[in-house]
Amino acid sequence: MQNSFVTDAINLKSYNLSESDKIIVMYSREKGLIRGVAKGVKKPKSKLGARMDLLVANTLMLHKGRNLDTICQAEVLNSFYKTRQDIDKICYSTYVTEVVHNFGVEDDPCSAKVYDLLYKSLDAISTAENKIEIMLAVIKFQLKMMAESGFSVELDDCLCCHTHIPDESMYFVPALGGVVCGSCAGKVMHQKKQLPSKMRDFFKQMAENDFDYKGEYELKANEKVCEVSFEALKSYIEMKSPKKFKSTDIIMQMPV
Ligand SMILES: [Zn+2]
Repeated sequence: MQNSFVTDAINLKSYNLSESDKIIVMYSREKGLIRGVAKGVKKPKSKLGARMDLLVANTLMLHKGRNLDTICQAEVLNSFYKTRQDIDKICYSTYVTEVVHNFGVEDDPCSAKVYDLLYKSLDAISTAENKIEIMLAVIKFQLKMMAESGFSVELDDCLCCHTHIPDESMYFVPALGGVVCGSCAGKVMHQKKQLPSKMRDFFKQMAENDFDYKGEYELKANEKVCEVSFEALKSYIEMKSPKKFKSTDIIMQMPV
C-alpha cells in the first residue's frame, strides 16, 4: 500500500485524543520522532491495547493521514517486562525516553543509531541485576546520546586553556560540557564538580567503546561513583535540552 509504511518504534509518551483514542509519540528506527493515532486503544477489546503502553518496542504499520498518521497494526518486539516490576527501572527508563523525546527530531538521518541506543539502554536497564548495572546503562546512554546529538562531552582538553589535562584532578563543568584543568578552575564562574582522573577514565571508557563492552572501570564501579557521574551528566543534558525535563524530579525524590 502506497499510503502505508512499516517501522520499528518505541513508545515514549501518549496523549488522550478522544474518549477511545490516543496519540502515541514514538521514536522510530526509520523516521526518528513520529506520532500516530491509536484508534479505539482505550476500549477493553482493542486490538492494539497494551502494545501502546509506554516503554514498549513494536513493529508497526502506519497509514499516512493528512495531518496525523494512524497506527493500523502493532507486533511487540520487546515489552521490557522486567522493568515493570521495579520502581528504579521504571524511573531510569522514563528518564532515558524523555532524553530521546527532548533531543529526537523528525526525519532524523541518524534515527537508526538513536533507536538502537535507546533499545539497548532500555533492554540493559530491564535485565539489570542491581542498581549499579541500571546506572551504568543510563550513564552509557547519556554519554552516547549526547555524542549522537552533536554535544559530545569534552574529557581530554581543558575547555579554558585548551591544553591536554594529564592524569591529575580536574573539574567537570556542566555549563561548558566537559572538563577544565586545576589552574583554570578558579576563573570559571559556572557550577563545577571536582573530577578525579580515574573518573575521567571511567567516562572515556564508556563513551569510546561499544554499548555492550564492559571495561575495567565499569567492573569496579560502585553506586557512589555511578550516582555522581549520573548527576554530572544529567545537569549537562538539562542545560543543552531544547525542552524542560519532568522525570528527573521523580528520580530526585526517590529514596536511595
Ligand atoms: Zn586550563
